[in-house]
Parts: sequence; C-alpha cells; structure tokens
Amino acid sequence: MVTQTATVRIFNFSAGPAVLPLPVLEQIRDEIVCLPGCGASVMEISHRSKQFKAIQSEAAETLARLLSVPAGYQILFLQGGSRLQFSMIPMNLLRGSEAAADYITTGSWGAKAITEARREGSVNEAWSGKDGGFRSLPTEADLELTAGAAYTYITSNETIQGVQFADDPAWSDSPLVCDCSSDFLSRPIDVSRYGLIYACAQKNAGPAGVTAVIISDDLLQRSSADLPGYLNYREHADADSMYNTPPTFAVYVLGLVAKWLRDDVGGLAAMQERNREKARLLYDVIDASEGFYEGHVARADRSLMNVTFRLSSDELDAKFLDEASRQGLGSLAGHRSVKGVRASIYNAMPRPGVVALRDFMRDFIAANG
Ligand SMILES: *Cc1c(COP(=O)(O)O)cnc(C)c1O
Repeated sequence: MVTQTATVRIFNFSAGPAVLPLPVLEQIRDEIVCLPGCGASVMEISHRSKQFKAIQSEAAETLARLLSVPAGYQILFLQGGSRLQFSMIPMNLLRGSEAAADYITTGSWGAKAITEARREGSVNEAWSGKDGGFRSLPTEADLELTAGAAYTYITSNETIQGVQFADDPAWSDSPLVCDCSSDFLSRPIDVSRYGLIYACAQKNAGPAGVTAVIISDDLLQRSSADLPGYLNYREHADADSMYNTPPTFAVYVLGLVAKWLRDDVGGLAAMQERNREKARLLYDVIDASEGFYEGHVARADRSLMNVTFRLSSDELDAKFLDEASRQGLGSLAGHRSVKGVRASIYNAMPRPGVVALRDFMRDFIAANG
C-alpha cells in the first residue's frame, strides 16, 4: 500500500515529467549542495563560469556522440518547451517564404503544431489521422506532399495516442523537421535525414525546463534578423546557447542522463533493444487478452514509449487504475482525450516496473475477466 506520505519510490508510468534513471537522481542528491571541485551547488554558479561551460559543452558533446550527429549541425539548449518550438519553427523557417510547409498530423501534438504554423505562413496538411482517432500512421502513398515545401513536419512519437514512426522517414525531398519530444534518445536515428530535430527534456531526457534543438547549418541561414532575438535560432547558435541565462540545472541533469545512456546502458542501440523488449511484455498481454484489453493503436504503428489501451467500460478502467496505484504502479491514467490506460515506459522505466505491470494486468484479467 503506497500512501501520500510514502518515501518509497513507486513504479512511475507518468507521461511527463517522467521517471529519471535512479543513478542520475542519486548523483544529483550527492552533488546538490556542492558540485565536486566547485565549492557551490550547480544552481548557484554563473552560467559563464568555467565549470558550467564545461557541463554544457559536455552535455552537447555526449548527445552528439550518442546520436552520431554529423558535421554541419548545431545543438541548442532552449527554454519554452516543445510548445515554443511549435512557433519558433515556422517563425524561422516559414515566415516570409513563398513556399508552403507540409505538416503530417498523427496525433494531438502535431495538431497543436500545425495550428501555430498557420499563424506564420502557408501550410499544407499533407495527411491527418484526426478522423480516424489518431490510431494509425500514413503510408507514403497516403501523403499529399508539396514539391519544394519549406519543410515537412512530423511527430516521431505521439505521446497521447501512442503512435510512433518505426523508422526515420525517407519520403520527403524537403528538410524534415521532427518533434522527437517523447522518443528522443530512445533509439538511434539518422540525423542526416533531418533538417531540425527537437525534444523537450521532461519525457525521456531530463527534467522540465530545457529543450534540445538539433538544427542543420543550412536551416540556420533562414532565420531573419527581423525576428525577436530570443526567437531567432541563429542568435542562440551564435551565442553557444548562452544568449540569455540557460536553464543551468536542467542542462546539468540532461548531461547526466546522456552519460547514463552512454556508460550504463551502452548507447542508443542497446537502449532500443531494452525498449523493444519492455514494450513487447505489455503488448503481448494485450494481444493475448481476447479483447479484455483493447489497444488504442493499429499494431504496426504502436509506440514503444506510450502503451495505450482501454478496458470494456469506464468503471473497469477506474478499477484497474485504482488497484494498480495501490500496488505502487502510478500515473497510469490515459490522457483525458483518449481515456483508458497509458503506460509510459520511457528509457528510465526499469524492466522490473514493466514486469510488475505485466503481472498486474494478467492478475486483473483473472479476477475480472
Ligand atoms: C509533451 C510534448 C509536447 C509539449 O511539451 P512542452 O514542453 O510541455 O511544451 C510536445 N510534443 C510532444 C510529442 C510531447 O510529448
């Protein structure tokens, strides 16, 4: 029984802010009052200090190595979350352009992104899964892409519905822009296929407060000097992400998570293997349940990060969530727009947590089926 006052960690299936690797939390605890060699907390030192500059450049380098970012890209650390990117992307890459931007809407986040883009320029929705309840992804033949588009925008993993592109898309001639917020660092990606990749940290890479943007030098040239300074990618690139005070603590934690991936996990291919195996544990129970659990998403398009499903009634959903929470399986409620259950099993969700949920799901069928 887990109570409000418990100090024991539960298995936390929150969609975001979400679980962090325990070794990272322990290192933060050990260093919070005094960063070794620094005489102060990381939160108390200048962003222009030698120590913090080293923390930030190491975080960027570790990300670059993990993702094999090729030459010709910059890694920026920004604030404002992914939501600000919904606006910054069209402000920098579309505003004033003759060309339209293509948007592929595969879930709730993509739908919000296209709304912001329409404020900035001409937008073509090349595909939308809205009428189908965002339960599946398009094939290349479904897309109505524009020749010479300013860019093509996708969301690699739709956190709310739980649909995920299995591979880096290869179908666009125009620069591909990707919201990777909820599957960033969960698998290797071919960065060279993209013009811009971004992710807020609080799903899979750190705490809320920092957003990583990986942008090609080509796209950086598009930012107009007329933009407000903070909203201009080039200003941030020219200032090495110190245009203003960066979110120093969040950058520090992001760097620790990246090092955990490198040193403890062994890189993104190893992480992807773990993630595939964890997701399979849950999807296998859903598929073997003869409809007791109904997955929200077409099998081929299922997310390895957010496993979404429903039971046969709202009452049974509520019973499931209540009993799960009593067993230390927390934050499993689906997003209010989808309802049901959503198990977010990001990188830092340990396998024993997924096994515990899998076992609970089986027991729940036995008791209620
Ligand atoms: C959470 C999320 C967002 C929004 O992130 P904020 O940092 O709250 O702005 C955008 N896109 C995706 C895919 C997300 O998962």
